Amino acid sequence: MIKYVNFLERILAIITKVLSPPYCVWCENLLPNYTVLCSVCRERVPVIGSCQVFLSSTRSMAVHAYTAYQEPFDRLIQAKLNGQQTPIFQLGTLIAEYVKKLSLECDMIVPVPLHWQRNMWRGFNQAEILAQSIAPVVGKPIITALVRHKKTQFQSALSATQRKENVTHIFSLNKRLRNCSLRNKRILLIDDLYTTGVTAQTAALELYKHGAQSVELLVVCKVVN
Ligand SMILES: [Zn+2]
Repeated sequence: MIKYVNFLERILAIITKVLSPPYCVWCENLLPNYTVLCSVCRERVPVIGSCQVFLSSTRSMAVHAYTAYQEPFDRLIQAKLNGQQTPIFQLGTLIAEYVKKLSLECDMIVPVPLHWQRNMWRGFNQAEILAQSIAPVVGKPIITALVRHKKTQFQSALSATQRKENVTHIFSLNKRLRNCSLRNKRILLIDDLYTTGVTAQTAALELYKHGAQSVELLVVCKVVN
């Protein structure tokens, strides 16, 4: 029976490979197995790395960014706007490999939440999908510690006053987390994209407000000027 199931699985794998062969998302060359980038493209990814962002006179946040917001990664991130999940899973594979090199220390993983209307419309939260790829590498639980109250507009289109108003009271603590305290916890915040950084910084301040010991942010892409 087991031999029969294995045989069927192998047949299914061959059919899948014929109908949907693996290809590199950057150069689009066919690949021998289901990875995201070919070995050549993997070597030419411009890794950004880590920096420290100051949130207040006493608080800061380390920001770890895998790569720049440019081809092909911008295309993969923007695919979420069309409801496509596969590119986010592909980015999840890449960032999980990047995390292995970082040796991050945290107690929990917190995805940056979407506003419930946007989540319902899109059908998924890209930060949660990324967190699912990262959790097995880090070996820590995913906690939906924050709730988002506002759909933020793009910061670049706003004046300084509007920007401040745009990010005020975006997040609050998820009241459903009755038995989960953030006190003295080291938190790894996850998002797909870091543009102005204001959204992630506001989320980090909310986590600090509820007792977090440290907050680090991990993103796939960062906008670089
Ligand atoms: Zn390639």
